[in-house]
Amino acid sequence: MKLNLYSNNTRFAPSPTGHMHLGHVFSALFAYEAAKKLGGKFILRIEDIDAQRSSKLFEDSIYEDLDWLEINFSKEIRYQSEHMQDYKAAINELLKLDMVYPCFCSRSEIKAEILRAGNAPHEEDYSVYPGTCRRLSLEDRKDKMEQNLSYAWRLNIRAASKKFGNLFWDDMRLGKHTVPVGIIGDIVLARKDIPTSYHLSATLDDHIQRIGLVTRGEDLVNATHIHKILQTLLGLKSPKYLHHPLILDSNGVRLSKRTRAQTIKSLKASGLKREDVIDLFGKENILTLLNLIK
Ligand code: GLU
Repeated sequence: MKLNLYSNNTRFAPSPTGHMHLGHVFSALFAYEAAKKLGGKFILRIEDIDAQRSSKLFEDSIYEDLDWLEINFSKEIRYQSEHMQDYKAAINELLKLDMVYPCFCSRSEIKAEILRAGNAPHEEDYSVYPGTCRRLSLEDRKDKMEQNLSYAWRLNIRAASKKFGNLFWDDMRLGKHTVPVGIIGDIVLARKDIPTSYHLSATLDDHIQRIGLVTRGEDLVNATHIHKILQTLLGLKSPKYLHHPLILDSNGVRLSKRTRAQTIKSLKASGLKREDVIDLFGKENILTLLNLIK
């Protein structure tokens, strides 16, 4: 199929911090079917930048579940934890452009932000950092760096928006979006000891892995605004996007590790077959979405 994409590859990018649930399967299966429709590769990326929460056990269980679901992924798996140099280089580039600054705010403040930065901010409402360290003089900055204090690299969103003006991106299901720069705060892109965040590594990796179409849940639309900003600043190609609806539980709540959604492992153990699991969200939902790719 010939679309206006710069590649026909799609990806599935789980964090190995828990077992997969039905929401993951829906996402993975849709990305897989989309790659097949486009004639591209279905690429797996393990988003394991959070060393404390990631584990080999969860990683193996992802492979096991994908195998059981007969979702074949390309053999070149990218482990983010092995590519910290790439993320460091991107931060250096942003630093040269004067688009990031070190933030030394209190440990607990930084800690909460860092925790958010390591995880994809599903349903994020942008928390706006008041900009305390943006206003530090160069001398104070240097002083604090020399004191070996802990810090995080924040995006200077005002400087960025001055540089590029209005930004837009298209979603194959939800239509055209304008990046709402006015309400996005100076988000954390990296920190001293872990030189990356979900936003930075996901954006860079989608580029490095030549992903033409990014498919993921619609709770990440706000994340895409940030990714568009980073693509623009770093001169990266923008993939096309399709944010799909979320699978909800019987109370209408998004399935997540936090709400202890039933895992594929447990559905399997209760005797369900591959087709039964797919029936739980309906094959026709995948087909409806696939029809939007044109
Ligand atoms: N690791 C992220 C997650 O599991 C991936 C989000 C994305 O597809 O960009 O939520």
